[in-house]
Amino acid sequence: MKKTDILIIGSGIAGLFFAIKIAKKRPDLSIAIMTKDKVKNSNTQLAQGGIAVVTDCIKDSFEQHIADTLQSGGGLCDEEIVKMVIHQAPERLKELIDIGVSFDKNKSGIWNLGLEGGHSQHRILHHKDISGAEIEKNLIETIKQLSNITVLEDHLVIDVDTKKSNGKMRCTGAFYCDKINKKVKYIRTKTVVLSTGGCGQIFKNTTNPEIATGDGIAIASRAGAVIKDMQYIQFHPTALYEEDKNPFFLISEAVRGFGAHIVNENQKRFIFKDDIRGELATRDIVSQAISKEIETSGKQYVYLDCRHLDFAEFYRHFPSITDYCKTIGLHPERDLIPIVPVAHYQCGGISVNKKSQTNIKNLYAIGECSRTGLHGKNRLASNSLLEALVFAHQASDHIGRTIDDLSFSSKKSLLKFDEPLMDRDSNYFVELKKELQTMMTFFFANKDSDFAPILNRIESMKMATVGLLFKKQKITTQLIEFTNMLTVAKIIVEQNKTEALKNVTSY
Ligand SMILES: Cc1cc2nc3c(=O)[nH]c(=O)nc-3n(C[C@H](O)[C@H](O)[C@H](O)COP(=O)(O)OP(=O)(O)OC[C@H]3O[C@@H](n4cnc5c(N)ncnc54)[C@H](O)[C@@H]3O)c2cc1C
Repeated sequence: MKKTDILIIGSGIAGLFFAIKIAKKRPDLSIAIMTKDKVKNSNTQLAQGGIAVVTDCIKDSFEQHIADTLQSGGGLCDEEIVKMVIHQAPERLKELIDIGVSFDKNKSGIWNLGLEGGHSQHRILHHKDISGAEIEKNLIETIKQLSNITVLEDHLVIDVDTKKSNGKMRCTGAFYCDKINKKVKYIRTKTVVLSTGGCGQIFKNTTNPEIATGDGIAIASRAGAVIKDMQYIQFHPTALYEEDKNPFFLISEAVRGFGAHIVNENQKRFIFKDDIRGELATRDIVSQAISKEIETSGKQYVYLDCRHLDFAEFYRHFPSITDYCKTIGLHPERDLIPIVPVAHYQCGGISVNKKSQTNIKNLYAIGECSRTGLHGKNRLASNSLLEALVFAHQASDHIGRTIDDLSFSSKKSLLKFDEPLMDRDSNYFVELKKELQTMMTFFFANKDSDFAPILNRIESMKMATVGLLFKKQKITTQLIEFTNMLTVAKIIVEQNKTEALKNVTSY
């Protein structure tokens, strides 16, 4: 494919939902979705808990969901954005249901709403404990029926191309690796939408799959886009502890909403010392309380205790969690489940406005790779699938109305693009990646005030990576992903440093 009106990078909820909306609105446009692995390999596929939407207008209200989101975000949310997202939620939910996504109901046909940390009401719509897989499956099925969308699997985007016109940078195309034909290629486009998800793989312990290497942040930052709030990486308090596991299996927050307790080695609950909401405090508070307990006890983990719960009901709600536990010999009805906080969600990202526009013309960002102002310092549980839907809608609305004013840029001819691409190959990157993950995990756990050593090591890793590129004269998937991870790690450390300096000077 040499050109397309719209290029979407990434095939999680944000990219796929946007594609469906714009394809239906504008059947005359050509739309390509490039995704670096198989289409369903994404954070979305793994989502368990569900989507936070106000559907019960007797006990719940938009105002309560707004207040919970603002409180969780620690004073850093953009209130106008929070209101927009929460008010739009029922409409976006209806669109998901219209394409076939099913959410659990109770016997009287009313939504079976889950409760999660930081929410003052039951308001999480879910499909058992595999909400993400249910959403992803239906989005993919719908895409197949839309003839103006082409899905290109195993297409790893390296960079977007930009050009200055009328004093402003605009996005004109993208360089990508066609991993099937092992070629680096170029595509011209009127508009690019980044929906590349998060960066959890930068850390040693994470719930994010192998694809979550922060590519979109690195691509946008190289293109000159503004990146904000990357110091706010959310750690999920209850990942199942298994030695040397990557990614860690998540035990959804909904399990605590269902009544599970967090206990220490002596089988005592301890979160109440930090917050009166106990296990249902927001993720930052629960994660910090667990980390403190782990440090004091010298153990590797604490436990989730589900033994007092009605197991038949528990299994009905959490079949995949229960089944996974059983595969490693744990039975929630009689065993304590070892848990540990792990990197889970990137609250910051590519800065966008209400229409999902970045500061670069024709470059949009939606979903986890974007920073919209909804989450502040700490995302409220189950608000991220919702954010992806709302900002995919906003982008489709704006692009649908404005794309006719855009034209393709002139053809790119200056580079030779027929270089073969090597597969994920050497142990070299495996070792370097492990070092980076360990370093970043340690950095986050200790937040040392001396940022120089880690920044220097990231820089020297970058030099080594660039050196390898020149020596081998070959581009590999690992090289691209690892370079992106280094770029994002540097941004995370630098934004932590800026925040630390701000805190010192504000005394
Ligand atoms: C285990 C787990 C459970 C979760 N549970 C919930 C929940 O219950 N509720 C909730 O609201 N949120 C939940 N989240 C968070 C939520 O799932 C994600 O924030 C959301 O799915 C992100 O969607 P996305 O479309 O932005 O990105 P993703 O779904 O991560 O998709 C990113 C896509 O971009 C592609 N990509 C990346 N880089 C490139 C590149 N260079 N070239 C081409 N393609 C590329 C990837 O292959 C992938 O297809 C959970 C996350 C995890 C990991």
